[in-house]
Amino acid sequence: MEYQRTLAGKVVLEGEGIFSGKNIRVEIEPAEENGGINFIRADLPGKPVIPLKIENIIGLEGATAITDGEHFIYLVEHLLSALHGLQIDNANIYVYGEEIPLFDGSAYPWVRKIQEVGYRFLLIPKRKFYLRKSFQYQNGVSKINFKPSNTLKIKAFISFEHPLIREQSLEIEINPRSYINEIAFARTFGFKDILFERKNKGIIKGGSLSNAIILDKDKVLNPEGLRTEDEFVRHKILDIVGDLFALGYPLVAEIEAIYSNHRSHIEALKSLYKAGLLEEIESRALTFLLIYKKLKKYEQT
Ligand SMILES: [Zn+2]
Repeated sequence: MEYQRTLAGKVVLEGEGIFSGKNIRVEIEPAEENGGINFIRADLPGKPVIPLKIENIIGLEGATAITDGEHFIYLVEHLLSALHGLQIDNANIYVYGEEIPLFDGSAYPWVRKIQEVGYRFLLIPKRKFYLRKSFQYQNGVSKINFKPSNTLKIKAFISFEHPLIREQSLEIEINPRSYINEIAFARTFGFKDILFERKNKGIIKGGSLSNAIILDKDKVLNPEGLRTEDEFVRHKILDIVGDLFALGYPLVAEIEAIYSNHRSHIEALKSLYKAGLLEEIESRALTFLLIYKKLKKYEQT
């Protein structure tokens, strides 16, 4: 049986919000069994709670946000990616602002802190979503294929007209070990011109070379360079792992994402959900079924 997981202690991280330019504190507290993931706007009166579920998630141009219709928290995707990648089922996330700090643009700062405090297992089976049948989503050039599977497998394709990116693709089976070693470190990226334009328009007030890979026409401006040559497609998978958690439970499926972005990830999940193609399975039920089959086989021999 796979047990539900929470944190063994409290995780606290503080950093600059790129939209607001303000310093924002985030505290992640352990939560009890079946509590799920909840975001709390801890800076507002009454501390509104926004549970992680598909109805509360919106996919924007370059970010994913959670909202109850009235209160918002932007840039939740890298934190959700860390929680999903490390298979945390229950946690309460207190956010003292309207966005999650970007830190170095990867999920690694979250992963490191969570690993430092460790995990606590709750003696109740994990809840997961499985796919009843294959499903295809397409919007313009963005295409996402979902296939039933017993493990989470992600294949991503990206294409940018930049000499350091061009076409990149990667396929990986996601479990905590592969997530930590292959995905968590990959930083988000942006182009210098677009960054300056957004700064000039006041859309973003913070942000620097320490929050992302910044590219000009032909090179990386960050003095430390890239962490791997294919860091770009690895970050795409990091974003997909985060956005998939919008369902509130892990999704077990084989996913192929072609030229996808946050908007298409969330739209695809909403369509999948509405089409009734998700089946919630407790891992205990599955284990019992397997044992039953084994006993049947035993009886027959
Ligand atoms: Zn990202």
